[in-house]
Amino acid sequence: MQTAQNLTQYRDELKGALSNEFLRKAMDNFAVAYRGSRVRAFTGIDVETLVSQIATAKDASISRLDQLFAEFKEKAEKAGVHVHLARTAQEANEIIGRIAENADCKKIVKSKSMTAEETLLNHHLEAKGMEVTETDLGEWIIQLRHEGPTHMVMPAIHLSRFQVADLFTGVTGHEQDAEIERLVKVARRELRQKYVDADMGISGANFCVAETGSLGIITNEGNARLVTTLPRVHVAIAGLDKLTPTLEDALRVIKVLPRNATGQAITSYVTWITGPSECQASPDGKKEMHVVFLDNGRSALAKDPIFSQVLRCVRCGACANVCPVYRLVGGHQMGHIYIGAIGLILTYFFHGREAAKNLVQNCINCGACKHVCAAGIDLPRLIKDVHARILDEDGHPTQSTLLGKVLKNRTLFHTLLRTARLAQRPFKTQGGFLRHLPLIFDKSQNFRALPAIASKAFRDRWPEIRPRVDKPTMKIALFSGCVQDFVYPEQLEAAVRVIAGQNVQVEFPMGQTCCGLPAQMMGETEASREVARLNMTAIDAADYDYIVTSCASCASHLKHAYPRLAGEEGQVKAQQFADKVIDFSSFVHDVLGVGEEAFTGTGKKTAYHSPCHLCRGLGVIDQPRELLRDAGVEYVPTEEEDVCCGFGGTFSMKFPELSAETLERKLKIVEESGAQELVTDCPGCVMQLRGGAERRGMRLNVRHIAESLAERLK
Ligand code: SF4
Ligand code: SF4
Repeated sequence: MQTAQNLTQYRDELKGALSNEFLRKAMDNFAVAYRGSRVRAFTGIDVETLVSQIATAKDASISRLDQLFAEFKEKAEKAGVHVHLARTAQEANEIIGRIAENADCKKIVKSKSMTAEETLLNHHLEAKGMEVTETDLGEWIIQLRHEGPTHMVMPAIHLSRFQVADLFTGVTGHEQDAEIERLVKVARRELRQKYVDADMGISGANFCVAETGSLGIITNEGNARLVTTLPRVHVAIAGLDKLTPTLEDALRVIKVLPRNATGQAITSYVTWITGPSECQASPDGKKEMHVVFLDNGRSALAKDPIFSQVLRCVRCGACANVCPVYRLVGGHQMGHIYIGAIGLILTYFFHGREAAKNLVQNCINCGACKHVCAAGIDLPRLIKDVHARILDEDGHPTQSTLLGKVLKNRTLFHTLLRTARLAQRPFKTQGGFLRHLPLIFDKSQNFRALPAIASKAFRDRWPEIRPRVDKPTMKIALFSGCVQDFVYPEQLEAAVRVIAGQNVQVEFPMGQTCCGLPAQMMGETEASREVARLNMTAIDAADYDYIVTSCASCASHLKHAYPRLAGEEGQVKAQQFADKVIDFSSFVHDVLGVGEEAFTGTGKKTAYHSPCHLCRGLGVIDQPRELLRDAGVEYVPTEEEDVCCGFGGTFSMKFPELSAETLERKLKIVEESGAQELVTDCPGCVMQLRGGAERRGMRLNVRHIAESLAERLK
């Protein structure tokens, strides 16, 4: 497996993937089809409850892996199975190599196993002169191409049928038709004899059931049944995390796994094996059966208070299916062995820092993976935490250390912004953009126009615009975030007009600063913690009924990250603070109950972009749309409203090519809808979408929902 040496090399690899037209199209088609199939497959099922039951059961298993291993070993050995435990990947390979040598196995057939991919088992056995044939169609294809999987469930999703036909032509020596059914027949014909000739079958296992010592294997092609039944020796390799106390626990996962993996209601084959079966190929008529458990860091991971949850993973691959980055570049660029969001994390633990250090930065923090995870793993948070850990081990780059230092010092940060405002004057256009990119940006950032810093920050306007309310019904603190404070103060002014008009006393505590999310995204946890402390000191939650912010990213970060960052000491205060945080749309709609009577408006065809941190970070879906309808806007629903716009703060600076592609797709959809306006709830999204629309010369008014509502107030 190749690993890019540095971020520049990794970016070049990403550009290569972006220029692969077929890959892009295949991934796009899959992403769109998957969304629909998944929704259909889960119709009538309470997914949230099921996922939470899986998470709870898995956590309970993870906390007693030793016991489960002992129980499984006892039951399986009683049934005639040899059970092994390998501490490392190398040890697992050596155990399996020895089993093969002792039983004089030369020919091996194998069904799909990510654990075997993790240990690079095939290379080890082939180096011993054994012939290993993958029998899952996708795995066989990539084996013939000498490459790794690009998806944990669909390993050859990146290839066209024409590429497969060419490959099969080479293998068979006959010209092959690129028709899928015929290609499947070719594979079947070529592989059938391999099963018959094989001395050993190697499989993975989805479940190792401790109460019975049984293995559970899920496949769509039935090849695992042939692999585990025909050859005289069967070896199953499984991570310790596959230990499951009971059959009932396994069945619960089976209810979710195929639905989440491919949108299928059921999988085609579920095979349960308890002990070796009779076997005609064996001299004594009985199969020799082994189960090799792989630790490779899992036991240590199980004890980690933050990361143990990654062992809940059931390898459904859904976190890749919905990931906007995976959709653009595919699995070879978004994983080392394991793919997608979970791959970014597992690479660090199973394959080391060097393999993980670039990959782990390639996350836009959109939360789509967490939203669909079959085991409820907080993937975006763990990806950020892995990044922070790598920086702590490797050293922090100057850029991010500087950013952290600046953000921790509010006065310095705001002075720098004010200085930049003066310096940019000659380059400011009438539309509020910068005519040229500042020198610190390279050309790749040119995919969107950058906004100029506002001539007067919101905090400097506040004394003049602060509304006086005679008999307020409640008092709120307005949290601005740095983008609205210094770049888009008009969005905050609009928010204040909407809120204050409802008899609410609005305060703007001056000691507040950036929410700290950019520092967190750069892996600067200490800086992010200090910034959180500054804000919680500036805004004493006890003084306010609510802390309202019209930045979705700030809202999600204040609400979810502050209690975590505060640690045990500051936990209570941070939780009180977080409990009072609310986004602008929910506050106006749910708390103030503002409805159509507040507005007098004309319809304008308006599309809506749902910010990741609002719809998934806070679960706010209907409120902004209802507000728009109430305000008299002609809301035009568009496809993929909740798919990321490609901003992701520092992500768009690190990976501009990926950011640009995601933005392009979003704007194309809006353009096709015929909308004149595009409204959203986050200043970061406004910056990305408005800058992109400007670069493309689109006649599209991109703005914050507060502006749209304020304009239509009675
Ligand atoms: S947060 Fe978004 S970008 Fe990051 S891994 Fe998850 S789905 Fe992909
Ligand atoms: S992390 Fe969650 S979504 Fe991703 S493969 Fe594992 S269970 Fe599936």
